[in-house]
Amino acid sequence: MEDIAKKNGKDNGVTTKIFAMNTVMNMTIYGESIESAKKILAEAEQEIYQLEALFSATMKNSDISYINENAGKSPVKVSEQTITMIEKAKEIQKLTNGAFDITVSPVVKAWGFTTRNFRVPKKEEITKLISYINSDWITINKEEQTVFLEKPGMAIDLGGIAKGYTADYLSNWFEQKGVASGILSLGGNVIGIGLHNGNKWGVALQDPLNENASVGILKIGNQSVVTSGGYQRNFEKDGKIYHHIINPKTGYPAEEGLISVTIISSDGTKADGLSTALFVMGIEQAVDFWRQSNDFEAIFITEDRRVLATEGIADDFQFTGESQGYQYSTIFKK
Ligand code: AMP
Ligand code: MG
Repeated sequence: MEDIAKKNGKDNGVTTKIFAMNTVMNMTIYGESIESAKKILAEAEQEIYQLEALFSATMKNSDISYINENAGKSPVKVSEQTITMIEKAKEIQKLTNGAFDITVSPVVKAWGFTTRNFRVPKKEEITKLISYINSDWITINKEEQTVFLEKPGMAIDLGGIAKGYTADYLSNWFEQKGVASGILSLGGNVIGIGLHNGNKWGVALQDPLNENASVGILKIGNQSVVTSGGYQRNFEKDGKIYHHIINPKTGYPAEEGLISVTIISSDGTKADGLSTALFVMGIEQAVDFWRQSNDFEAIFITEDRRVLATEGIADDFQFTGESQGYQYSTIFKK
């Protein structure tokens, strides 16, 4: 944990970096004093580990492992947070017409993204595995607090939404602890808490083609900025790159001309689900989807190096990617 008061004049800021949920997480908060901020941040780290222990698809005793092991067998009792998450995931599946679907798990596993033992599955294997994908076959019993996967072979993976949920959960948690200002970056999911010295937070938008560069700066208040991109996790086989965002309809990595999708919203969980879903949809469908919605904005980066910001965020986005060969434009509602 690092004291950042020196860097920021008289701010009582503390920052920490941990590895959880398969990714690097940075949290910076400004407290009443350095000491109190450090104490709160240490507790926040424990909150993250607790959520990870529920949502992990690889930890043996997680709620998710327990649900998956009992697919086709019996409903299992899980924590309230797991129920909330799965409900939200089912909503996003409906909303996106299946572009986002947590039951994509058997396919994600087959490609090796869960264990990092990467492989290219045979066509027949994929055809079989996509037949297990459908969130309608997840039964939630709220009274009993149970979840049941109806078909043997089904499995769920919250990787496309868990960090967004964690960001939302933590920002509320920090506010309850009296933290009025902070910024959390949970592996591609950034959430602002309040303002910093009266100013909005600046969030760099990653250049998907150069890990050391950004293509601009976004200004946010109490909002989430979530980016999904094939560059975030992938492997190469016989000269071809396969990434971790799977089209649930085909079972193959989504290749719809996008290299990253960034969602800006006050609902971080939804922003996370949508970043994955809109990446799967591709630019045309994604823009149509945005035009029919009113609770998020987006920035799309296409394979041919166009950076497209929706009109509601354009004023808070400063594009700097010209020298890297990107071209910028705004997408209007009508
Ligand atoms: P994200 O980084 O939020 O875009 O989420 C990607 C992760 O979500 C992957 O590593 C998989 O674990 C999972 N995933 C991949 N494709 C999908 C999909 N179409 N719907 C839901 N989750 C997915
Ligand atoms: Mg996501």
